[in-house]
Amino acid sequence: MDNCIFCKIIKGDIPAKIVYEDDFAIAFLDISPCTEGHTVVIPKQHFEKFTDMDEEDAGKLFASVNKVAKAVEKALNLEGSNIGLNNGKAAGQEVPHVHVHIIPRKEGDNGGAIQSIVKTYPKTDNLEELKEKIKESVK
Ligand code: AMP
Ligand code: ZN
Repeated sequence: MDNCIFCKIIKGDIPAKIVYEDDFAIAFLDISPCTEGHTVVIPKQHFEKFTDMDEEDAGKLFASVNKVAKAVEKALNLEGSNIGLNNGKAAGQEVPHVHVHIIPRKEGDNGGAIQSIVKTYPKTDNLEELKEKIKESVK
């Protein structure tokens, strides 16, 4: 995609601190890190949302994420990391090219768990119904 900032990084048209690259994915330091070492892993092919990818491509992306997350944790002597992605505008995705965030964490850094991103306190007396709906929707 011509006007996609992450496609421009892949093409080398704009600079980035690239820490890993393979045939399918590249990883680079986030320009506005949440914590030191915040890294994003992206597929080289332009997909807007994670849910636009097929299972095979999603699997390849996460194989690279696994490799890079281990490297970040080892290099920075971390106690943990949050690994995840904002899938779509409603979920906070600003750059419309799939990217998985690896956010380094340390005990006492005052950060929260991934579940603290949003809390709408939905009812829980319909879990059986929800389970059926989603189950039927899985291809
Ligand atoms: P998201 O809200 O998931 O779309 O996050 C996009 C992320 O990309 C943010 O954490 C930005 O700081 C990061 N970002 C945007 N532009 C660049 C860039 N040129 N190089 C590195 N990271 C970037
Ligand atoms: Zn792109």
